[in-house]
Amino acid sequence: MRTVSSAASSVASGEAPEQVFYDTLLRDAKHKVVEAPVFAPGTRIADTHAHLDMLHHPGLALARASALGVAFVVSVIDPTEDPSFTLSNLESWQREAEELLADKGTVPIMARPPLSAPEVALIIGCHPHNASAYNQAVEDQLVLALTGDARVVGIGEIGLDYHYDNSPREVQQAVFRRQIRLAHEHQSTVTLHLREAHEDGLRILKEEGIPKKGVLLHCFNLNYAALEPFLELGALVAFGGPLTFKKCDDVREAAAKAPLDRLMTETDCPFMAPVPVRGSVCEPASVVFTARQLGDLRQEPHALDQAFNNARRFFC
Ligand SMILES: [Zn+2]
Repeated sequence: MRTVSSAASSVASGEAPEQVFYDTLLRDAKHKVVEAPVFAPGTRIADTHAHLDMLHHPGLALARASALGVAFVVSVIDPTEDPSFTLSNLESWQREAEELLADKGTVPIMARPPLSAPEVALIIGCHPHNASAYNQAVEDQLVLALTGDARVVGIGEIGLDYHYDNSPREVQQAVFRRQIRLAHEHQSTVTLHLREAHEDGLRILKEEGIPKKGVLLHCFNLNYAALEPFLELGALVAFGGPLTFKKCDDVREAAAKAPLDRLMTETDCPFMAPVPVRGSVCEPASVVFTARQLGDLRQEPHALDQAFNNARRFFC
């Protein structure tokens, strides 16, 4: 289960570096500084899928992201875990980011001052791993956040995960259906998590109907043939770390072929850090490497501006 404590324990077990650097440099798994890509002036990047609540220092992560051109972050809340954690701390994380960005002693290497913290939107949904914990009280909390907190802009991540099968498949499917119905009822977007379950996911989406506000397939890591039926349904697609992985030519091909007005960038941090920071704790700033890869794949000018605008249009 992907909780705050499990993320912390994976760090403690030595999978990822524990050391915290109060600057805006990016480092690989061995703490070696990695040069960040330089984009055209004014380019803004979005991280459309972050788990800020799983990061050790969300405020510092937001400051670093801003320094590297990340202007918009969507953070995920799971109502079966502790939804109030992000809801009640987000403001202080952003305030801390603003303070760090203003303090050149703490953050000595500034790319383009003056900077403000990235805008952060939230989505809420029961992850398929946690489907067994879904009940009416959880649903009530989800709906309360969705309808009562302006920062919560969509439902997600929801779907099916047959790789881990942390909840029984029929339970995952039932909870997925229930949350698609909520998206219809509350005119909400849906962010999909599908792992080794794209066929069932597609079938259930079709049976329940595509939410009118839109569907985003998050962390796409398959080939174009797997993506095409989702594009036909009008879905958008977000690419994360796998777009940069050595063995993922088929993912790059999918990103090169998909219509530009459907593409977004994301991290899924603290997981899935892209090359060349793979193996380190991923954070929103890491999305710049995925964005560089996307920009290289798409020869169109303004491809990254379009990806950013797609994210804004979808979530805001
Ligand atoms: Zn996620």
